[in-house]
Amino acid sequence: MWIFNFKARWNFVFSRVISPDKKEQIEEVKNIFSAYLEGKDLRKTTERFLILEEIYLRTDHFEAEFLYTDIRKKNFNISRATVYNTLELLVSCDLIKKHQFGKNLGQYEKSYGYKQHDHIICVDCKKVVEFCDPRIQQIKSMMGELLNFKITHHSLNMYGICGSCQKKRELEANIKKEAEKQTV
Ligand SMILES: [Zn+2]
Ligand SMILES: [Zn+2]
Repeated sequence: MWIFNFKARWNFVFSRVISPDKKEQIEEVKNIFSAYLEGKDLRKTTERFLILEEIYLRTDHFEAEFLYTDIRKKNFNISRATVYNTLELLVSCDLIKKHQFGKNLGQYEKSYGYKQHDHIICVDCKKVVEFCDPRIQQIKSMMGELLNFKITHHSLNMYGICGSCQKKRELEANIKKEAEKQTV
């Protein structure tokens, strides 16, 4: 029985072992969110803060539905609607970012205290990899100057096929070739 529950338990244990730095950051974002909700005359519900904490404990890019499923797995009784509208609120107060990685792939990530970065997305498995290249900063200031723009932000997504998907494609192509040989 314990083995079957291992994953759920591990999630639970993992989420409760929080480093002091992380704890501090979570307190900071909670304060920002609290001030935002107060300013908008919105209710400061436990659910909203719990969702924020769950997001800041993650290190990935995630879809709204994944977050909802993860929260349910941890036995927190929060509705899908609450998860979705809290995400919208967190985007509005700049605590999370929403990316559109491809047509049907809206993904979120935390943004407070997080370094500027860009993304490469695998078109096969949808894996998202982050990268940071100072040359992009140079392009921003150069283009801003050249075209007389005050650049406020940018978005750069690159798409391609990751290493393991390249191998998978090769393998599939070989299998197809072999099959074709045998039918001739
Ligand atoms: Zn891939
Ligand atoms: Zn990212």
